[in-house]
Amino acid sequence: MNAIGIFGGTFTPIHNGHIRLAIELRERLRLSRVHLVPSAHPPHRAAPEVQPARRLQWAQLAVAGEPGLVVDDREIRRDGPSYTYDTLAGLRAEAPAGESPAPLVLLLGDDAANQLHTWHRWRELFDLAHLVFVERPYEPLTPAPELASLLRGRRAAAPQALLERPAGLWMSASIPPLAISSTRIRQLLAAGRSIRGLVPQAVLQSLTAEDIRALTHDEDPAQD
Ligand code: ATP
Repeated sequence: MNAIGIFGGTFTPIHNGHIRLAIELRERLRLSRVHLVPSAHPPHRAAPEVQPARRLQWAQLAVAGEPGLVVDDREIRRDGPSYTYDTLAGLRAEAPAGESPAPLVLLLGDDAANQLHTWHRWRELFDLAHLVFVERPYEPLTPAPELASLLRGRRAAAPQALLERPAGLWMSASIPPLAISSTRIRQLLAAGRSIRGLVPQAVLQSLTAEDIRALTHDEDPAQD
């Protein structure tokens, strides 16, 4: 069955940690494709100064030419808070009638997983998708007790299990760590320092003075 990965974020800006995560997990889990979904109006953080349409363009530049990575603009086309529940429900609703539903696999870094219990309709995410928690440097997985109890009994025995049913399982995955974050990129830019090697070259080349102003708005310069 053609399993689809979903990987959301504010992507302010998208960086090589995001891209490697999507590629590694697509290969490892044998996903037919991974949708990178820029969040338009993230419910749990202040709206980024960089406009959704610009963050979307960076994501498109970042995946250009990479087979199996696609940028999905549905949260930008939708009004209101960008709830992952609605995104998964939308993907489900697109499945051709009469065909058995494809597995959906939501990919989350551990820092996002640690906040999952605060998300809109978070328990019901398991009705729509599998969840894969991806190790992130300096961010151990520490699920809240209510999430831990929901996870009990749902662990996938092997990656193959995710391909055998449409939703409802979870697993952890570790990938070669890349300690890159958008926060650090913004802090380096605020200090007037180079971000080469942290973001895809096409994203780097596209940055305008206005982009750098928006990215560094409210950001403390890197001190290290
Ligand atoms: P910020 O520093 O602004 O919080 P970020 O680098 O964490 O940004 P987001 O857009 O918030 O990036 O993250 C989207 C998703 O990518 C989240 O699930 C996050 O855990 C994951 N992620 C981001 N960077 C990495 C990384 N280097 N390794 C693994 N996962 C990552």
